[in-house]
Amino acid sequence: MRQCVRCLLCGQKHILRITIGHGARQEHTIHCEECGEEFSVALDLDQANAGWTFNCVSNCEQTSEGGVVVNLHPEFLVPPELRNIDDVSINILACQAMMKDRGVNKFISEESDYKEALKRSREDYGVEGEWVDLKRCWSQLNKGNRERATELVGVYGKKYADTGCSPESWIFPFVLRSISPGQFFLFENAIKRVAEAIKKDESRTEAFLEFHSTRIFSANLKRYFSIFEKFFSAYSDYSAHFFGYKFGNFQPGGAVSSCKFGDTMYFYGNAFEAIGSNMTTLACLNNLLKGRKYGEFQTEGFKIEQYMSSDKSGRADCFADIPEFAALADKYTSSVRNGSHHGTFELDEKTMNVSYTPRKTMVVETISYSGYIDMCVSMFFTCAVMTGIDCFLWNITKK
Ligand SMILES: [Zn+2]
Repeated sequence: MRQCVRCLLCGQKHILRITIGHGARQEHTIHCEECGEEFSVALDLDQANAGWTFNCVSNCEQTSEGGVVVNLHPEFLVPPELRNIDDVSINILACQAMMKDRGVNKFISEESDYKEALKRSREDYGVEGEWVDLKRCWSQLNKGNRERATELVGVYGKKYADTGCSPESWIFPFVLRSISPGQFFLFENAIKRVAEAIKKDESRTEAFLEFHSTRIFSANLKRYFSIFEKFFSAYSDYSAHFFGYKFGNFQPGGAVSSCKFGDTMYFYGNAFEAIGSNMTTLACLNNLLKGRKYGEFQTEGFKIEQYMSSDKSGRADCFADIPEFAALADKYTSSVRNGSHHGTFELDEKTMNVSYTPRKTMVVETISYSGYIDMCVSMFFTCAVMTGIDCFLWNITKK
């Protein structure tokens, strides 16, 4: 669709060529092509009846006159050279690229895989909508209102598949839907090692599950919740990468169609802190796998309490030799964390690059905004997989 808007600050006119996605609401926050000021537009979509409403959210108004063309797509990255070109279809270009990749893309290389992927993708498009429902229930659980949280599973959870009858039994399929099908392998691989770890020694496993359910599970869930909440509250900025990885058709090098930097700049730092804290689960499983008690590490005398208060930047080191766990820490880096967490991030809206100063070196580093979002989305998938592992363990305890 085409919508013409005018920047309220400088008057620059823009023709927004917006592709309609699969969500109920689609927001695009972009920078004025003339003055660089941020403005936002939104589409409210009625997918069942193919209806839509276009709204100017901030710093712009609709106009009948055309101006600079800006192509926007909620689910694909837009190649920078095509951002301001009229008469291109981002959908067709993305599909062509996907077809070209088909031979090397494991996910859609077999016809049966492809059909399966299509079938599942229809089921899995709506996790941001499911989040709105799950959030109420999960939030009540965090506040200690288990009874009300369980009631909410009955009220809202039954709209979705396999939600069971407890908050945790809904959180589990939700996180699997969030990563499926394209990132499901992360969970599938890791859970095999989890199963191996808990089969090793019955009494050690029992002690670990007791520690897990009484000491860390509830706190872990609260931290996961805060990451899901922050992710979905700035979903428009993450959606193209999210869809690209989820559906196995990620095309690197493009630009995002929304940049609400104020809402995303702290995400990586917050996710890093939450994931670092919650890695205790993986560290304990790693100890079991290596034939030790859950709280005993390779370094003699180093115990779980010390691990839990150690510097977060080194927390993934103890399981670096277990590829299925190490894959979850693939984009876990303290340099971006320091930029994000300490607020040294600065966005240059002309180049769409983010510069930051990792605390120790004081050397200015640069990352594209799209590259930064890529790291955030990777942390989101890690968070979802780890939530799945924690819920899996909790479920064993409850049996
Ligand atoms: Zn302007």
